Amino acid sequence: MASTVIIYFVIVCLASVLSTFLSIYGLLRFRHAPGGRFYIIVTALSALFTFAYALEIYSVTYEAMRFWLRIEYLALPLLPVFILLMAVEYCGYKVRLWMCGFLLIIPVVTIVMQNTNELHYLYYTSMGVLVNNPFSVVYLQHGPFYLLHTFFFYSCVFISIMLLLNQLRTLVKPFRKQTYLMIVGLFVPSIGGLLNAADIGPESIDLVPIFMSLSFVFHALALTSLRMFDVAPIARDVVFESIEQGVLVLNANDIIIDYNKSFTRLCLNIPASIIGDPITDVLQKHDNLIAAVKKGEECDVSLQIKEQLAYFHVHFSPIYSKNNSHAGTVITFLNITERVAMEETLKHLARTDGLTQMYNRTYFMEEAEYTLSLPLSSSVQASLILFDIDFFKQVNDTYGHDTGDQVLTSIARITKKHLRTTDIAGRYGGEEFVLCLPGTSKAEAVNIANRLRLAIADHKIISETAPIQVTSSFGIAHMLLDFHSDPAAELREGIKKADLALYEAKREGRNCVRAYQPSLPQQAAAHK
Ligand code: GH3
Ligand code: MG
Ligand code: MG
Repeated sequence: MASTVIIYFVIVCLASVLSTFLSIYGLLRFRHAPGGRFYIIVTALSALFTFAYALEIYSVTYEAMRFWLRIEYLALPLLPVFILLMAVEYCGYKVRLWMCGFLLIIPVVTIVMQNTNELHYLYYTSMGVLVNNPFSVVYLQHGPFYLLHTFFFYSCVFISIMLLLNQLRTLVKPFRKQTYLMIVGLFVPSIGGLLNAADIGPESIDLVPIFMSLSFVFHALALTSLRMFDVAPIARDVVFESIEQGVLVLNANDIIIDYNKSFTRLCLNIPASIIGDPITDVLQKHDNLIAAVKKGEECDVSLQIKEQLAYFHVHFSPIYSKNNSHAGTVITFLNITERVAMEETLKHLARTDGLTQMYNRTYFMEEAEYTLSLPLSSSVQASLILFDIDFFKQVNDTYGHDTGDQVLTSIARITKKHLRTTDIAGRYGGEEFVLCLPGTSKAEAVNIANRLRLAIADHKIISETAPIQVTSSFGIAHMLLDFHSDPAAELREGIKKADLALYEAKREGRNCVRAYQPSLPQQAAAHK
């Protein structure tokens, strides 16, 4: 008989030691994990409960058993509360003080009723010692408040399981394992209950406390594998601080609640400490950035910072709280000044003729077409001038190709000098240039062409061998545009006419200007 007592005493003691160990383990390893702090309380309560239960088994007198039963009831009624709070926090809900207060009502009633049972017999209807067992145990007949306590206990466990099952639906696969472990842990004590019901083990020995201690092993496993949540804030800080983009976190009232180092490096001329400041105050020196923030749409913004123009790509990510209300915004700023400069360079290269630095033919056509398509006001006319260097082949043949290039750049320079801001010029091909003069009459175009012709003819190009002088021939086409005109077609037609006029100028001895007339021979390009 004594040896059986010792066996059960030792088993329940071991369960108590296990709970104590798990409580300390939780304290050291995952006290900051969601639910971790309640796990520590639950296992500590379980350790106290099983320890008192072990001593209750070991006791021989009714008084000693009743004493340890009182100690057990300092812990047992509180267990379901902290199991439920552990599940609530584990599932990501915030535990509020009122929740704890509310949940503690029945446990407090249970503790009071159990301790004062001898006055009312509403917790146990009768109490005594059972002696015809392998060893003496306390004999208790359950009353209505015991049933209330049992109902409350299983309700808390049931709600915890429901919360965890509900959480499973929202979890991605790698995170489900922990939740399964938590759920299994909640089922384990009922194995003890089933064994009790099946009369396995000695009569009047409750196996639930032993299995409850074991159940906390599953919870410990779940919470240990959740330790990544401890790491997550650190990982977040590392990522937040190391990303290239400047990041601002605003609350729903556009007050800055966080920002990273990259944001301070954007040279936005902001005060030293900006947490708690409205975004509009912080960016007050940059009106267009404030406008972009107010609009809240992804965009590129240019800012004058000191002497330089800087470009930022601004991106907005709204943050929503659990109940889907707007909780704030994350704004990222990427300095794209270099990228914009690179794009500008590429655009310039794609548009410009490398030798003369004038627009190339394709871009001239685009620009001229765009200008001719602008809403027509008073200027419903435009002129085109096409000019070609006379006997340029001879220049190349006499002085070499490099000198020929020099002549071309000189002529491009002279041409640019004669342009008005509204005029567009391009290298049409080889040693042929084209000008589009919006709002210019035929007579004005003839004047401009003659001035340019004389400037070219007068210009001495200093080459390595001798000063070179070249002449050029000009063809002019005049266009009248109205709202129905197709600018692309008009431009093509205009260039054809200017080419015919240029042909005429070549034919009539070169170094002269000719305007297109319908009477001109309608065949050209022979001069090329
Ligand atoms: P004209 O126009 O007066 O009838 O006589 P031309 O000698 O100028 O005749 P043509 O238009 O046939 O010759 C143009 C020459 O320009 C041929 C080509 O070698 C030269 N050329 C075209 N592009 C370049 C260039 O980029 N650099 C140099 N150096 N020469 C070029
Ligand atoms: Mg020529
Ligand atoms: Mg030519």
